[in-house]
Amino acid sequence: MPNHSIPFRTIQEVHSAFESQKLSPVELTQEYLAAAKKSQLGAYLTLCDDLALQQARAAESLIQKFGRVPREEYPLLGIPMGIKDNLVMDGVRTTCASKMLENYVAPYTATCVSRLEKAGAVTLGKLNLDEFAMGGSNENSAFGPVRHPTHPDRVPGGSSGGSAASVKADLCFASLGSDTGGSIRLPASYCGVVGLKPTYGRISRLGLVAFASSLDQVGPFAKTVEDAALLMDVMSGHDPQDSTSIPQGRLNSFATTRTAPSWSQLRVGVPKEYFVGGLAPAVERSIQNSLNWFQKQGAELVPISLPHTQYAVSVYYVVAVSEASSNLARYDGIRFGMRPAGSEQAKDLNDFYRKSRSLFGPEVKRRIILGTFALSSGYSEAYFHRACQVRRKIVGDFTEAFTKVDLIIGPVAPTTAFKLGEKSSDPLTMYLNDIFTIPANLAGLPALSVPCGADEEGLPIGLHLMAAPFQEDRLISAAHAFQNGFELGKV
Ligand code: GLN
Repeated sequence: MPNHSIPFRTIQEVHSAFESQKLSPVELTQEYLAAAKKSQLGAYLTLCDDLALQQARAAESLIQKFGRVPREEYPLLGIPMGIKDNLVMDGVRTTCASKMLENYVAPYTATCVSRLEKAGAVTLGKLNLDEFAMGGSNENSAFGPVRHPTHPDRVPGGSSGGSAASVKADLCFASLGSDTGGSIRLPASYCGVVGLKPTYGRISRLGLVAFASSLDQVGPFAKTVEDAALLMDVMSGHDPQDSTSIPQGRLNSFATTRTAPSWSQLRVGVPKEYFVGGLAPAVERSIQNSLNWFQKQGAELVPISLPHTQYAVSVYYVVAVSEASSNLARYDGIRFGMRPAGSEQAKDLNDFYRKSRSLFGPEVKRRIILGTFALSSGYSEAYFHRACQVRRKIVGDFTEAFTKVDLIIGPVAPTTAFKLGEKSSDPLTMYLNDIFTIPANLAGLPALSVPCGADEEGLPIGLHLMAAPFQEDRLISAAHAFQNGFELGKV
């Protein structure tokens, strides 16, 4: 832990240090804030010093009062966290890394964030992302890219690049991101941390700035699977203010990390479509080693087919851009969005819109135009509706596969983190990078990335685990056993 006096890996370890008085929540918060201010990674867009210190002081008095960490009520007491800047917090700037929202201050707090706060977490600040979460490298931020935490000439992955890089670089203990087509799992894989996308509807989207509403899902980043599980447990549970929130109680996935999976009953699906050309050799070797490890534990490896995988990227880039064009229509400079200088002199309403909407960056504009086209009369049948039909086929592939297997395992991305600027002039190559992560969003499945190796240059590789909807426990228990049992090394 380069910036801090005491190396902690898990929330439990931090709590033990609080209890033995080796460290106090205020000291820990101050260390993280200082590290965040010194950092050159570009991970934070806003720091909430006052709020964080106030929360840390409250945590400190609770520990004094109880003489220990009251974990039952405050499982995250004093844990410093970063929040992706597309989740709103009352009184704090939420930019979505866009000029359009540069000065936007929300009047309420996202449900997921308020649940973390209620559990005792300290919110250090807001983390950088691709503008409106559109991108896979964090190069689309209007406020500059995030750099890879160990290889600064490379990207951290996106769109939750700030969330992944800040956990790896110890600029926060854990963080929140959002995943519409892979934006948690891809940067988790590139940066070498754990990133979890829950089942669609598991965590409330209230207060998550909408990109593509049928795909967006909030999830945690942490150094370990057990911490990611704990964060997910705290955030899960029905929210009556989000109509897509699953009407179920809180998860208790953390508990499943306390028992070993019953290996002889675990069937692991290996999709043939995920092991075709284009996989970097180091990625392929790491995934294969990981699969062998599962087999050695007693799990059965089952070759499966997800035949519609080849259409996933096309379907996603029709559905996501269509939903985005509709969701982003609200930023017109009247109710939402900035009014740029000169808009008072607009000739007419169209001229006014033109001026305010010019604040969007090139990728966001491209998607709004594509989405508007895909939804326009005369074309919506051929594009949007067709894409929705093919989406059903992709869901069907998974439904069928999960009658035969309990988990599906494969790569998160075809390669490790690429160089800054390497793909930014070619959106199509960038889109193709999402091939393995997008299907879980289209089908609403829970999925996670857990470190499983590194390439010749020491760049991390993530293992991708997917489960049937609502089967987070299965995912967590297998990933936790893997994290603790598999020997990480260069391949
Ligand atoms: N890279 C994908 C995109 O650009 C996914 C983004 C996300 O999950 N937010 O749309």
